Amino acid sequence: MTELICLKDSYLKECEARVIEVNGKELILDRTVFYPRGGGQPTDFGTINEHKIINVSKKDGKVIHETEIESGLKVGDRVTCKIDWERRYKLMRMHTAAHVLAATAYTELNYQITGNQIETDQTRFDFSMEGFDRAKFDDMVQRCNAKLKEDIEIKVYELPREEALKIPGVVKLAAALPPSIAILRIVEIPGIDLQADGGTHVRSLKEVGQIKILKLDNKGSKNKRIYFGLE
Ligand SMILES: [Zn+2]
Repeated sequence: MTELICLKDSYLKECEARVIEVNGKELILDRTVFYPRGGGQPTDFGTINEHKIINVSKKDGKVIHETEIESGLKVGDRVTCKIDWERRYKLMRMHTAAHVLAATAYTELNYQITGNQIETDQTRFDFSMEGFDRAKFDDMVQRCNAKLKEDIEIKVYELPREEALKIPGVVKLAAALPPSIAILRIVEIPGIDLQADGGTHVRSLKEVGQIKILKLDNKGSKNKRIYFGLE
C-alpha cells in the first residue's frame, strides 16, 4: 500500500519516501505526494530524486510512478518526491471550480452533468440543456463567480458509509461505490456542495479565481459543452 499524503495535505510539495517495488520504469513507494490520475483530475508531474515522472496511476492500493527512463533505483532506496507545484495548484483550483460549477448547474438550474474533464488551463463540462443559448451559460458562470469571491473554507473529512448515505445528493454516488468501501472521504464546500471525492482542493474558495468561458459547443439536441479557464 502507498500512503497518499496529498489527500491529507494537498499543499505539500515534497516528501521523503522509500522504494517498495520496481518494475522497469515503474516505481512504487511507501508514501507519496504525487496525485494519481482519477476522479476527473489529471496526474501530477514532478521528480523522484533526479528522475522525471511522466505519469502516476493507482492500482490495488499502490501508486505507480512512471519514470521517463529506467531509474536504476532499488527496493529499500530512500528518495525525495517533488511535484510540479505550479501544475498541481492549477489543478486544485480547477477541481474546486468544477465542484462549484456542477453544484450550481445541478442544484440551482437543474442541468444534468453528462461529462467533465479537468485540465490545467481549460476544463470541459457537458450538460444536458435544452436549446443553445449563450445567456444561459453567462448566467451560470455569473452565479459561480459570485460564490468564488467568498472566503469559504473547504472542508475535507471522512464519514462512515452509512452516515454519508443519509446526506441528500451524496447518496447516488456513494451507493454506486462497492460495499467494501466503509469510509468515504467527503469534500464539503459549506452551503454549496458536498461530495464523496478523492481529489485535491484549495483551502478557500477565493483562491480559485474567476471562471471565464473559453468556448461553447453544441454537441447535440440536449448535450451542450463548455470550456472554461480561470483568471
Ligand atoms: Zn471532485
